[in-house]
Amino acid sequence: MISYGRQSISQSDIDAVVEILRGDWLTQGPTVARFEQAVADYCGTSGAVAVSSGTAALHLACRSLGFGSGDVLWTSPNTFVSSANCALFCGGDVDFVDIDPRSYNLCPDALERKLQKAGRLPKIVMPVHFAGQSCDMPRIWDLAGRYGFKVVEDASHALGGRYLNCPVGSCRYSDITVFSFHPLKSITTGEGGMAMTNDLSLRRRMVQLRSHGIDREPRDHQAPALGAWCYEQTALGYNYRMTDIQAALGVSQLGRLDAFVARRHGLAARYDDLLSGLAVGLPWQDERVYSARHLYPIQLHGGGEMRRSVFDRLRANGIGVQVHYIPVHTQPFYRARGFARGDFPVAEAYYERAMSLPLFPDLTHAQQDSVVAELRRALQMAQAPAAGSQS
Ligand SMILES: *Cc1c(COP(=O)(O)O)cnc(C)c1O
Repeated sequence: MISYGRQSISQSDIDAVVEILRGDWLTQGPTVARFEQAVADYCGTSGAVAVSSGTAALHLACRSLGFGSGDVLWTSPNTFVSSANCALFCGGDVDFVDIDPRSYNLCPDALERKLQKAGRLPKIVMPVHFAGQSCDMPRIWDLAGRYGFKVVEDASHALGGRYLNCPVGSCRYSDITVFSFHPLKSITTGEGGMAMTNDLSLRRRMVQLRSHGIDREPRDHQAPALGAWCYEQTALGYNYRMTDIQAALGVSQLGRLDAFVARRHGLAARYDDLLSGLAVGLPWQDERVYSARHLYPIQLHGGGEMRRSVFDRLRANGIGVQVHYIPVHTQPFYRARGFARGDFPVAEAYYERAMSLPLFPDLTHAQQDSVVAELRRALQMAQAPAAGSQS
């Protein structure tokens, strides 16, 4: 099976992890700090907080901004469930803004219309850089200034990407940007995530919440230290720490990031060529954006049964296609909270025809050719019966 995404692990990645295993520190230690500094340098931010997952980073981002009961976070329905769940972890509410039909990202026009008529304004808006392509961040940041909400970028797909030549993660147009290091993402630490920010007080709060809400810095303590054993818990935090084992892999992978993204671009351009004669919609690229090319999502010309038959045939023939994403508001959990099919029609229409083709740095041209050949065959098979049943 050619999976739709997978990690690329080199001998030097392995050596970096083994070196940690032979050393003194396994849990969060000097290598986590080194990884944070390396990603901050890459993105041009002053602060970074490494944690155990992208989801944990989203949660800490919301907590550090004071998000809680009575507050609402708005995000895209075309995302993984974490982008919405993190609001509920904090006891707040979630709502969605429909997507742009070309970029499949949260639509700034829809956001502005929703803000104009909102009874309750959002405390946080969380754009998601779908498939690695940055949202229209200057527009969203401008609205943030006018309506007074905070911006947390869910950049789980977008490490290594840029907007107007500014790295995603720079937080030029946001308060906090979150990355995931799950094996399918730009680089991996097994599990892992990071929150980027230029606001050192947000960074300090996230550092504290990452480890039980404890302050270890004596100068930050409320009471004078009675001894070197003293620490103070002043908030309810978590154990969201990353390990030095993970961070060593992260530092090593970060050195390969630009090559990974360049390789994804080469493969995506090759898909653009190979698929040009087929009856499928190709992913549009915003010329202001250098995408991290996390996914290659095509649109089939028929939804429902047609997508199902193409998908099943590809899977049966060893092509690990996937669908990104089932609109979050249509999940049973969110329907039970009052959302319904039809609430965000652009995301739903996109989803009905969506299919992601395999795309990852180690995908070979020969594998890519077989993906395209199998897709061509599957489309032909799906067309024949579909033509009869549609009349
Ligand atoms: C992967 C992903 C997450 C969650 O990241 P984890 O590291 O798996 O917790 C959140 N949002 C989006 C859009 C993702 O793709």
